[in-house]
Amino acid sequence: MKIQFHGAAREVGRSCISITTKNGNRYLLDVGIKFQEDGFSGPEGVTNVPGIKGVFLSHAHLDHSGGLPLFEHQKLKCPIFCTRQTFAITKILLKDSYKIARIKHTHPAYDKTDLVEVSKETEYVQYDKWYVHNDLKFKYLNAGHIPGSAMILIEADGKRILYTGDYNNKETELMYSAIVNKELTDKPIDVLITESTYGNRELPDRKLLNKQFIASVKKTISGGGSVLIPVFALGRAQETLIMLGKENLNCKIYLDGMAKTITKQIISTSSKYVKNKDLLSEIFFNKIEWISSPKRRNDAIRNGGIFITTSGMLQGGPVLEYLKELWHNPKNKLTLMGFQCKRTNGRHLVEEGFVYIDGWKTQVKCAVEKYDFSGHTDSEFIKKMVSTINPKMVFFQHGDEESVDILNQWAKKNIKGKTYAPSLGEIFEI
Ligand SMILES: [Zn+2]
Repeated sequence: MKIQFHGAAREVGRSCISITTKNGNRYLLDVGIKFQEDGFSGPEGVTNVPGIKGVFLSHAHLDHSGGLPLFEHQKLKCPIFCTRQTFAITKILLKDSYKIARIKHTHPAYDKTDLVEVSKETEYVQYDKWYVHNDLKFKYLNAGHIPGSAMILIEADGKRILYTGDYNNKETELMYSAIVNKELTDKPIDVLITESTYGNRELPDRKLLNKQFIASVKKTISGGGSVLIPVFALGRAQETLIMLGKENLNCKIYLDGMAKTITKQIISTSSKYVKNKDLLSEIFFNKIEWISSPKRRNDAIRNGGIFITTSGMLQGGPVLEYLKELWHNPKNKLTLMGFQCKRTNGRHLVEEGFVYIDGWKTQVKCAVEKYDFSGHTDSEFIKKMVSTINPKMVFFQHGDEESVDILNQWAKKNIKGKTYAPSLGEIFEI
């Protein structure tokens, strides 16, 4: 059997790994893209796309799913396996990224019909159930990362392979956590392919973070200010809604942007490992106000309150409309909820206190805070998982150079099996 890394190798983005069995059947684990300033890049070195026998999708984020229509354009002709929730959300995200590419005049390298083809080839799988496809068996396990997310356990050529996708071992307001269950320890795992996003650090205690966040929001509201919360439409938006909706806050909570569509989808699709779905539904339909027009947005800003909106790194979306009105008042607060990539407005704000609004470099006067409500696990748990599973081979991927190297060095000293931080295109014989 051969394993090749076509993306997310010493980087975050364009996750894609191929597995070729002894019979010569080729399968893909995820088909992601990586966003760049002038568009995006897809997986590298995937040849003969029509010959691929199956795609296993771990979750809906575009860095894992965004390349599907690209491959459809190259005549992918095989089942795309994923959970029902993953597919429902992927469909929304792919449609939206196609729309944005058209607006920005960056050719997405596929057509609208390719999006339809992705839908036709999708096959839903349930969690915790074995399936057989050609010469392999597979099972989806909860990854705790976002609704629908899964780790994928594969058995082929007498080997057991665990691909984690993105995972979180900490329970959140929205997701039950990923666990190292008996399935992963009773029978030996030959190959473990794990994400390494936070391979170089430990994350703070979630409950404590939640308390600090709520206290800070209350302080701003009681001081007569408004709170602007930029969020990612999927995961963080719903978690923020639940955290705030549970509290007795003396103000209105508004939701704007793509998060509305995604939240509706999460509520209407059943998923075993999504937590607090009824509560989310109650909050979404009865406790908050949706903003769907510039007029309502302006009225809301004038009245004040808590504004939850996309995009999470202040790169575009309605959040900039709010920021234009709120940045100059020190009573207001802007609260970032997670990791901010290099060269984004969010990162500029955290490190240097400014953002670009309509091309103008603006030194913001409102208060700025950042909380690490991550959907990923951290170095402590990755190490624990690798030690517990004790695989014959481990690959650290989906992390920047520093993260994968730190984990790889640690593993070389602490486990008996072979350990790697693979480079792009590298092939391994298993
Ligand atoms: Zn993800």
